[in-house]
Amino acid sequence: MVYIERLFRISTPVGLVAKLDRAYRMPSGLLVLVEFKTRWSNQPCLSDVIQLSAQRMAVMGQTGQPVASYAYVMVKAPARGALPIMHRVQLMTDEQVVALVGRREGILAGRILPRWSPSRKACLTCAFRAQCDHPHL
Ligand code: SF4
Repeated sequence: MVYIERLFRISTPVGLVAKLDRAYRMPSGLLVLVEFKTRWSNQPCLSDVIQLSAQRMAVMGQTGQPVASYAYVMVKAPARGALPIMHRVQLMTDEQVVALVGRREGILAGRILPRWSPSRKACLTCAFRAQCDHPHL
């Protein structure tokens, strides 16, 4: 293990600050990122992939080290004695992360209209439910 709870930041091609949980160095020199989550649903989420992809970009940009295009999400149930279960995820490319940052900025600036979530589960716990006009609500 080479990094634990470390902050990395870059200013180009986009400004990013990312705190990673763990990074391991393989014998080949490649770094592999690991993110720990505590939740009932034993599966990785798109938000985990986005988070890890941003971490990858920040680590590579700040340190110049190669980081694997895949990572692991360790999901543990919030129950006593629960063990973490490992899920391998494919990360987004730098171009996809840059596009996502641009889209986020566009939505916040009111230049782009946000889309409804395709996930009914996400809507169940969404803080904006009351104001949202999604047809499935
Ligand atoms: S309730 Fe509306 S704003 Fe919230 S996740 Fe669902 S679609 Fe998005």
